[in-house]
Amino acid sequence: MSLEFQNVSYYYPGTHQGLNDLTLSVKTGELVAVIGPSGSGKSTLLKLVSGLTTGHSGSIKLGGQDLAKTPVHERNIGMVFQNYALFPHLNVLDNVAYGLKLRKVPHSVRTAKANALLDAVGLSAFSDRAVSQLSGGQQQRVALARALAIDPKALLLDEPLAALDASIRGQLRDQIREIQKRFHATTLLVTHDQEEALAMADRVAVLVDGSLLQLATPKDIYERPVSTVVAQFVGLSTIFRGTVLAQDLVDIGFAKLVAPTHNRVAGQTVHALIRPEHVQIDPLENTPNRMTGHVGAQRYLGSMSRFDFFIPGAATPLLCEARGLPMNAVAIAPQHVCLLDS
Ligand code: ADP
Ligand code: MG
Repeated sequence: MSLEFQNVSYYYPGTHQGLNDLTLSVKTGELVAVIGPSGSGKSTLLKLVSGLTTGHSGSIKLGGQDLAKTPVHERNIGMVFQNYALFPHLNVLDNVAYGLKLRKVPHSVRTAKANALLDAVGLSAFSDRAVSQLSGGQQQRVALARALAIDPKALLLDEPLAALDASIRGQLRDQIREIQKRFHATTLLVTHDQEEALAMADRVAVLVDGSLLQLATPKDIYERPVSTVVAQFVGLSTIFRGTVLAQDLVDIGFAKLVAPTHNRVAGQTVHALIRPEHVQIDPLENTPNRMTGHVGAQRYLGSMSRFDFFIPGAATPLLCEARGLPMNAVAIAPQHVCLLDS
């Protein structure tokens, strides 16, 4: 079932905090990851869907049905939070079967269903364990099984991996995605971890101060951000402010860059975005956009090194990623200079 937000605004009583005129749709079976800084309205978005928060303007429709007119207990939404929120007095199986029991599903039916879901999340062997005897990652898998047990119309995941160790997080990320696909669950995933969002989502929504800045595939969000705010939130980059000199030529003060200006005109202010992996090291003398300078701080990261490259006259160093170090020059291929208006 699709989940559609149309011009949704919500402000916490007496504040200007919340969501501003948000329009976004999650297609049936799609996973949309919502990223944004803390306080940007990510949890508010989920709370409006679940009914924990009410009183928005605009419409939120789930499977075509207006949620404002759907009582909370009829919404049938599966939720997973950062802090597991399992019932400590119930064993693993009973946690998963809980929602079915509430819905008066007969014992044998709900047990069979809960067992099937525990199998899907790889926890069949743990069905009669106390939840306190599980690791954090296992508890989140139980929470996911519990959320899916009710055949939810939508799955809401609020920072489900935030409390876990980095090693578990990577594994569970793949598992959640695989299970979400298998169940064809229409899913909104909230995370502050942009890498997690890019790795898991069909599309990524960038939310800042309650406003949706961009909704696009992970590749488009990364390669074609609509603004420097989005670009700085997703991946690493260096941004130089400049002015269009002529078609495909931009003055960034300490250098002139060849870059696709598209339909911009001379005199227009632009921001030139350069991703560290696109910086070429020690280019030949006549390479376009070749700039000389010297290496500053270096961080060894195993498969490559990340370092600052100081170019005389530049206000900020150029962030580079490479296997070797440049002696005294770098270049950026023109197609890899991404120009942004704001
Ligand atoms: P996020 O999940 O992106 O960190 P939230 O959706 O929780 O952000 O919050 C969005 C904004 O609304 C924040 O500025 C937060 O301080 C504010 N806010 C959240 N809950 C309440 C509340 N119950 N009352 C007043 N303001 C709130
Ligand atoms: Mg939150």
